[in-house]
Amino acid sequence: MRPEILFPLFAQATTLKGVGPKVAPLVEKLAGPLVRDLAMLGPTGLVVRRATTAAEAREGEVGIFDIVIDRMFIPSKPGAPLKVRASDDTGFVHLVWFGGDPRHIDRQLPRGERRLISGKVERFNNEVQIVHPDWIVPVARAAEIPPVEAVYPATQGLTSRMVRKFALAALEAAPDLPEWQDPAWLAKQGWPSWRVALSALHHPEGLTDLETDATARQRLAYDELLAHQLALARRRRARQINPAPVITAGEASAALLSALPFRLTGAQDQAVAEIRRDLASGQQMGRLLQGDVGSGKTAAAALALADVASSGFQAALMAPTEILARQHYQRLGPMLEAAGVATILLTGRDTPAERRERLDALATGRAAVAIGTHALFQDAVRFDRLALAVIDEQHRFGVNERNRLQAKGDPRLGGVHLLTMSATPIPRTLELTQFGELDVSRLMEKPPGRTPVITAVLPQARIGEVAKRLKAAVETGAQAYWICPLVAESEAIDLAAAEARAVDLRRILNIEVGLVHGQMPGAEREAVMADFADGRIPLLVATTVVEVGVDVPNASIMVIEHADRFGLAQLHQLRGRVGRGARSSACILLYGGDDGGLGETARERLETLRRTEDGFEIAEEDFRLRGGGDPLGLKQSGLPAYRLADPIRHRGLMLAAADDARLILARDPDLTSERGRAVQVLEALFDWRNDRGGLD
Ligand code: ADP
Ligand code: MG
Repeated sequence: MRPEILFPLFAQATTLKGVGPKVAPLVEKLAGPLVRDLAMLGPTGLVVRRATTAAEAREGEVGIFDIVIDRMFIPSKPGAPLKVRASDDTGFVHLVWFGGDPRHIDRQLPRGERRLISGKVERFNNEVQIVHPDWIVPVARAAEIPPVEAVYPATQGLTSRMVRKFALAALEAAPDLPEWQDPAWLAKQGWPSWRVALSALHHPEGLTDLETDATARQRLAYDELLAHQLALARRRRARQINPAPVITAGEASAALLSALPFRLTGAQDQAVAEIRRDLASGQQMGRLLQGDVGSGKTAAAALALADVASSGFQAALMAPTEILARQHYQRLGPMLEAAGVATILLTGRDTPAERRERLDALATGRAAVAIGTHALFQDAVRFDRLALAVIDEQHRFGVNERNRLQAKGDPRLGGVHLLTMSATPIPRTLELTQFGELDVSRLMEKPPGRTPVITAVLPQARIGEVAKRLKAAVETGAQAYWICPLVAESEAIDLAAAEARAVDLRRILNIEVGLVHGQMPGAEREAVMADFADGRIPLLVATTVVEVGVDVPNASIMVIEHADRFGLAQLHQLRGRVGRGARSSACILLYGGDDGGLGETARERLETLRRTEDGFEIAEEDFRLRGGGDPLGLKQSGLPAYRLADPIRHRGLMLAAADDARLILARDPDLTSERGRAVQVLEALFDWRNDRGGLD
């Protein structure tokens, strides 16, 4: 229930003066439908005006001129500007309009009259020219021209000044709210109350007030982050009190562990322990297993699958591509079967007979583990006793898809445990925005015996040289990937085409070259992948379909064309395909087109990659370099739409808000204390649960 004190803020924006039926849709698009949305819409710029004269006005400044109108020049042909000549004691001031209405302008600037006008100064033949003056008033009304004016986001049909007026009206409607922040923290930060901060937001006094570290903006950003983290923390708590099957390790788990061809690393041991603790707790697990490419997440997940089977339940392992699902099935299937765990594969390409048989095995409980693709969450799939859903490369799935798989449990048994795995290490701040409701295990250590990958950054022009060295390496038995960004020649952009490249390389190197790309029929693609995995093909030209999880230890060379067009995280993923065997490995990043040019940021990004193989470090760097862009391409997966908070610039605030949120709920779960009631107001003010994305 929404606290009454918030009613004025939750009124429709149309209740504000001036927001009529014509502009209402524009306001809604720009800010949102409510008074609250306008009140929280901060200005993005500032106009500072100075009284000046024709003689001394500086180009670029916004000047206020005291002028007498001389005459108007009506455009002689359509499209030509309308001009008004005016002057002060020191010289001419020319006013210019494109598409202005002569009658309207004539009324505002009658010949021979004195007026104050304001606008951005241009100099033309050394005389002052102002295109579209922003203020025109008689001298008696000089006070109406603000010396400092906040600039708001605008759109076609809705000027910054209209938005400003509406935002100020919304501010007017905003009541004082009870303080939800911890008094000690507030004092330490030197922040004002919410209402005072909101007012300061709309009345910037200088440019520094517009920056993310301005006091008022920090306070408001923190409120927003805290509200979001509270919503996430609540979900986490709701899950934790949701009962779920009790899973314990048993014979199958032990058999699987001894069948693994290696010993678990310390990091894997710890992750397995954390997963087991959750599974045995009787409460629903929601855990993210974060680990760099090749850190061995699969083994940790496999043990969880075996535990579930040991405990008499079923588990599903879902992967985003057929190649990957099959690879998991081929590796884990035999080991699980040997451990007494009946395992099936479910993909979109099963024959009807296979499919019927496998669905039956799941529905009756004959099969304990299902490995598969999107096929796993289709309506026809029924489980007998699903207790665990493991999602590999979770960022490749939509929220909905993950939920659909999890919803296949039998409610009478309790919730379905969730283990999601991400091979894209993400910065802690993003982890908090994306997965704040999950518990996280991190695999920071890689399995032993990895050889470091030597990374070189070269201009595309040296491609011939690269091909020559590649041939030499292939002759000694090495295998290589060659990555191109597109499958077919695109006219618009000159990207290397995988198809053309495969033909070239086959001819130049005189070796067998395989080709895989996303548009290929699955069977064909898999046949080629299998040939490559078994060493029958030395060189594989591919688009980014090999990016996800593919494991061919003998492959030791990775060439990536137009590396500057890939995201850093993606390049890191691609590079992770090599350096998996005993052979020393290399990754060659080719950049630039024919001009060989490379922007500063692109250079820094590739340099980061050359310098380090630590996925977490790369992720932080990527995040930093991309600024507020779309770090790691996560937008679609629901990066929250913050109003004022910026996950990069307010990193420290976000970490604090996350701690704060958990503490608040731990101390006062029902929010009944005085501060607790204020916190309820905060939650209702942002309304994360009902409003926007970001909570998946
Ligand atoms: P990812 O975390 O990227 O999914 P995988 O689970 O595919 O990584 O593991 C990558 C490779 O490392 C596989 O070939 C796997 O068999 C191997 N591996 C996993 N754990 C260990 C370990 N503890 N010791 C040695 N090799 C391991
Ligand atoms: Mg993997």
